[in-house]
Amino acid sequence: MLCPCKSHATYDQCCKPFHDHKSTPQTPEQLMRSRYSAYALSKIDYIIETTDKGGPQYDPDLSAWKSSIAHFSQTTAFQNLTILENAPIDETTATVTFHATLRSIRGEDLSYTEKSLFKKKKGRWLYHSRVI
Ligand SMILES: [Zn+2]
Repeated sequence: MLCPCKSHATYDQCCKPFHDHKSTPQTPEQLMRSRYSAYALSKIDYIIETTDKGGPQYDPDLSAWKSSIAHFSQTTAFQNLTILENAPIDETTATVTFHATLRSIRGEDLSYTEKSLFKKKKGRWLYHSRVI
């Protein structure tokens, strides 16, 4: 199976080792891609563990957050991902701008462009917040 992050690599050779905790994304873009494919494959715990606890996206109500991620994952078709820009700020901060092509199961276009902020903590890149 091709990786849902649209890297053109197979899932086994792309995001699966990250989802299986066999390796850790070395760049913010790898983390971003692995989170996109985690949404596509309903790897809910992966989304939570790669979200910065100090950021606004982290919801301490884990059961509500898990059901909201599960609902989103299961009612959305993850059609494409395009990385538009990688912008390292310093060794532990970077932004990645991407366009996600998404469609709801009802057929609504949910596509959007986001500039995401990533922070490296304890050697691991984490998603912090949406900048734009
Ligand atoms: Zn991938």
